[in-house]
Amino acid sequence: MIGILGAGSLGRLWAALLPQHQVAFLPRPDADPAPATLSYTFESIQDGQHTISLPWLQSPDDLSLLLVTTKAGDTLDALQHWLPQLRESVPVVLFQNGLGSQQRVADAWPARPILAASTTEGANRPEPNRVVHAGIGETWVGPLTPSARPKLAGVVAQLATTGLVVHAEDQILPRLWQKLVVNAGINPFTAILDCPNGDILANDFFLSHIDSLCNEIAELMAAEGIGIPTPGELRQRIEAVARNTARNTSSMRGDILNRRRTEIDFINGYLVQLGSRLDIPTPVNQLLTDKVKQLSPH
Ligand code: NAP
Repeated sequence: MIGILGAGSLGRLWAALLPQHQVAFLPRPDADPAPATLSYTFESIQDGQHTISLPWLQSPDDLSLLLVTTKAGDTLDALQHWLPQLRESVPVVLFQNGLGSQQRVADAWPARPILAASTTEGANRPEPNRVVHAGIGETWVGPLTPSARPKLAGVVAQLATTGLVVHAEDQILPRLWQKLVVNAGINPFTAILDCPNGDILANDFFLSHIDSLCNEIAELMAAEGIGIPTPGELRQRIEAVARNTARNTSSMRGDILNRRRTEIDFINGYLVQLGSRLDIPTPVNQLLTDKVKQLSPH
């Protein structure tokens, strides 16, 4: 049985595409006595609309793989409840954006097979029980702890049964950084300016901070040994993604509009913390973090 911890947009996307008799959702510890199943409408890109009905997990002993699709800020707490109940050999795949939460999990359970995934699949939930596969992408999965290495091929094969494109990635950290760069350069601007991704490109606030932001990120990446990108390359990458997703609402803007906690602590906030550890100044990341936090309910 494949367990899904975090029955939100991304968790329900994977759940809808995996072989149905092999998937169960893990309930919140504070959930009311749960109904036996979770049902929702799934709008697939290729096959139209389906009703999905999947069980809540009855026995943790049944799990052979755990996909963790909570937000970054909820992940450690959610796993602290469940991992002590799972066999030590069960691979755990972390799907969170940003950085920081993955390392906390790997540090907390270094002997367990912990993997991280970086995905460009897009899913959203316009209504509580309707999930839309909004964009086809690709997913890279790689090991964070030594015992995850021998599990990688099997995990990728299980995830690929969805029909989604899934790659094994030995070096997952640089992949996570690539996505972090784009998120750090787009999400806070869209949240602060309350605009779709493409509209940041001509905005004075973006134009006056983007080069300094890219300088900070390039210096951090070089210090961490994640390649030696030039600030100009980072800016080009950020602007290309903003152009290609011009009408999209970023998850951070969506969180602010829906009065939910954002993942800023794991995006620009992570870069600020890393900078303070490495003694690299990060004033633009700090400014963006502060401004997003002022808009956020928590
Ligand atoms: P989401 O819709 O907010 O889903 C998160 C789910 O986790 C919610 O259903 C939440 O329940 C649940 N949860 C929180 N704490 C929990 C706990 N202790 N135990 C069990 N469940 C718990 O977020 P999402 O869009 O799916 O994103 C999840 C992660 O994937 C984020 O890090 C995001 O950056 C990343 N990601 C998402 C996408 C995407 O297209 N959506 C793409 C790439 C990466 P409640 O609803 O009850 O709060």
